[in-house]
Amino acid sequence: MKTLYIELSECILCEVCTEVCPSVFRLNEAGFIEIFDVGEADKPAVAEAIKYCPTDCIHWDEI
Ligand code: SF4
Repeated sequence: MKTLYIELSECILCEVCTEVCPSVFRLNEAGFIEIFDVGEADKPAVAEAIKYCPTDCIHWDEI
């Protein structure tokens, strides 16, 4: 199974991911990007977010 994660130490909070795919990426009250459930329908927008993240800190991890 693949899990989506963000390398938070590399995240610059530009919010590109929250704009491209708001159903999955959200800025939480603590000031970090959080990932919510990724459904099949979200995957194209997640791919866009990965593509446009300026620091390449969004990754799929195999678990
Ligand atoms: S696009 Fe990348 S750097 Fe920008 S807020 Fe999202 S995870 Fe962080």
